[in-house]
Amino acid sequence: MRAGWSQETWRLVGILALSLVIGLVIGRVRDCLLVGLAVVLALNLYNLHQFLAWLGASEGLKPRDAPGVWGEIYHHVYLLQRRNRKRKRKLAKLLAQFQLSAEAMPDAAVALGEGWDIRWFNEAATRLLGLRPGQDAGSSIRNLLRNPDFHAYLSAGEFDRSVEIGAPGHLGRRLSVRIIPFAGNQRLLLAQDVTDRYRLERIRRDFVANASHELRTPLTVIAGFVENMRHDDTAAARHWARPLALMEQQAARMQRIVEDLLLLSGLESGQAVTDAQDVDVGALIHDIREEAIAAGGPDAPSLIAEVTAEARLRGGSQYLRSAFTNLVMNAVQHTPAGAKVWIRWRLDGDRGVFEVQDTGEGIPAEHIPRLTERFYRVDVARSRRRGGTGLGLAIVKHVLQNHDGQLEIESEVGVGSTFRCVFPSARLVFSANLDEQRKAAG
Ligand code: ADP
Repeated sequence: MRAGWSQETWRLVGILALSLVIGLVIGRVRDCLLVGLAVVLALNLYNLHQFLAWLGASEGLKPRDAPGVWGEIYHHVYLLQRRNRKRKRKLAKLLAQFQLSAEAMPDAAVALGEGWDIRWFNEAATRLLGLRPGQDAGSSIRNLLRNPDFHAYLSAGEFDRSVEIGAPGHLGRRLSVRIIPFAGNQRLLLAQDVTDRYRLERIRRDFVANASHELRTPLTVIAGFVENMRHDDTAAARHWARPLALMEQQAARMQRIVEDLLLLSGLESGQAVTDAQDVDVGALIHDIREEAIAAGGPDAPSLIAEVTAEARLRGGSQYLRSAFTNLVMNAVQHTPAGAKVWIRWRLDGDRGVFEVQDTGEGIPAEHIPRLTERFYRVDVARSRRRGGTGLGLAIVKHVLQNHDGQLEIESEVGVGSTFRCVFPSARLVFSANLDEQRKAAG
């Protein structure tokens, strides 16, 4: 670098000195210096022209010998280009390897552009999604995958979850599809064949539903006989009074479990969504509160209803009633007499929140993540004594899933618990005259 610069400087000084001497000799110093500068400028313009020509012939460039600082420029640009060529070769190799590994993947991978246009896809995408190599690149994935659930998933834009759809053109085959955004507006679509898992899940669901259904009739018969026998006034019945009372109690518990399992099966098959209505949550809270007071008797805590959201909730009214009742009954059962339980329906931003807050015993933190599992109880013996099925919160979770909602649980031992059902704004129906409608309905 320095050699080039000093050479350049000496050249400039040499030309100017020569111009000065000639100028002194012929008595026209200023003109000669101007000619000297013009020569320097012309030399640099010539070098610049040569340099651009050299750059233009980009393939197989060799560094050129040039005087002064131009030699340095040629040298550095040559090094830079050599480095770039190496990097390009490496990237091309990496890309080829990536494409080979993506081709070998059993899952479909589709690279999508900003407007959902297909940029590239692997062989599995042809097999699973029916994309045609050489034809479908550039088309919108929206036009090629015409599944309504997939379109709703794209529109919702919540890509931290996947969506399950039927594979196009393959009856019975199920795919789990997920969009992964990357590099600004690019997206990668991954689709996995989950037919086996789906089939097993359906077998399990059908088994539970069928077993529960089969148990329903014998249980009703047994419960009926036991009830008749209990009300019999013979000496034998009096002798068997205690066992009969226990049998009646246990038969009732089994009936509740069967009913809850059937409700869960219905929820898993998505029934709650199909018979949606605009539910008046305020009126529902009023009913549930009355029921809870009647069921709790003198030991019930005081129940305070606070309805501040003037919105109805779009959903299956029986399922929502069942979920909300479960939460209120749980609060009543775990809160001592005289303490308080709040039942709220309020807005949090644009979301609707149904909330039950109690001042009861609370739940140790390690149990909270598992509470919505089927048959999970903090204290199994106590739950059974109370006649609990251990399915209540599993039902709540499923009802919320069916209504695009989420369950949030906060609890502190000795302070109390809050169970919060959060619904998205899309589930809320605002009407100005909700109060009037309520009055009219009595
Ligand atoms: P269960 O039929 O036992 O009530 P749930 O699924 O409704 O079944 O509840 C699961 C467990 O969660 C209960 O057994 C209880 O231990 C705990 N739980 C639920 N709600 C409350 C609450 N409000 N306060 C304290 N514990 C609770």
